Amino acid sequence: MKKQSIDFSKFSSIKIGASFEVSILEDCSASYRDYYLIGSCNNLLIGTNPPPLLKLSKKYDYIKIEDNTLKIGAATPSGKIASFCKKHDIANFEFLSHLPGTLGGLVFMNAGLKEYEIFNNLISITTCEGNFLKDEIKHGYRFTKITSPILEAIFELESGFSKDRVELFKKMRQNQPSAPSAGSCFKNPQGDYAGRLIEAVGLKGLRVGAMEFSKEHANFLVNHGGGTFDDAIYLIKEAQRRVLNEFGILLECEIAILDTNYMREVKTPN
Ligand SMILES: Cc1cc2nc3c(=O)[nH]c(=O)nc-3n(C[C@H](O)[C@H](O)[C@H](O)COP(=O)(O)OP(=O)(O)OC[C@H]3O[C@@H](n4cnc5c(N)ncnc54)[C@H](O)[C@@H]3O)c2cc1C
Repeated sequence: MKKQSIDFSKFSSIKIGASFEVSILEDCSASYRDYYLIGSCNNLLIGTNPPPLLKLSKKYDYIKIEDNTLKIGAATPSGKIASFCKKHDIANFEFLSHLPGTLGGLVFMNAGLKEYEIFNNLISITTCEGNFLKDEIKHGYRFTKITSPILEAIFELESGFSKDRVELFKKMRQNQPSAPSAGSCFKNPQGDYAGRLIEAVGLKGLRVGAMEFSKEHANFLVNHGGGTFDDAIYLIKEAQRRVLNEFGILLECEIAILDTNYMREVKTPN
């Protein structure tokens, strides 16, 4: 497989990590099971000892209208999908104008904003293990049970791009910090909010080195510049420890932690 060196302190949205070699997946004949697949790293925290990394080749970056459906390659960035839908007057993808990621990462995470989730208009996906209809894929809030690289997804095509929805999503973003982060650090536990719990245990605004549970929104672990993996992990563990002690709730990371020393230790969806 071809390889590419990626500087994660620049590439990842949280701006943490060194340079690592990443193998490029051209097709499914490669031994993809030996690797961890990354998208555009908007939901990842990479440590000093990551597993072997894999990224989809650029040939999976495309959008087509075919058979009255929308076919999107899994390496396509969310911003490109939102612009395409605006240009072609397509409805239901407006939330992607304010949600960073590639289509593969968005589908794997069932990413979304409030009730708008990427699975809403999904018809099927193509993966290295074959094609699956939406109903065949176990999925829920920021969760799917997809076990091999997603290469393409097909969506229902509905006309009517809504500028009002774009404005609504822009407003929803206004209470979120602009400093680098990986989005929400923890999933909201059922019937509660991770941000509320972090604030309740006194961690909102707590800064270690350059990492902080944001004063604007406690569930955002932000990097004020030069933040380290160790400081981020310290804060994540501290939040899990305090919330468990005080509320009996184990906060589950929404961020995936890529470090072989920590992948088992910190509760994550990996
Ligand atoms: C400022 C900010 C705000 C955010 N707000 C939101 C929000 O409101 N709602 C929300 O849901 N998310 C939010 N996020 C998180 C992020 O946007 C999503 O999780 C997005 O889906 C990540 O896509 P990615 O391509 O960057 O994936 P990565 O972060 O690179 O990977 C995320 C996961 O997807 C898997 N993955 C990636 N590509 C594939 C593929 N082709 N096939 C199979 N698995 C794959 C990876 O293995 C990993 O487990 C936010 C992030 C940031 C930085």
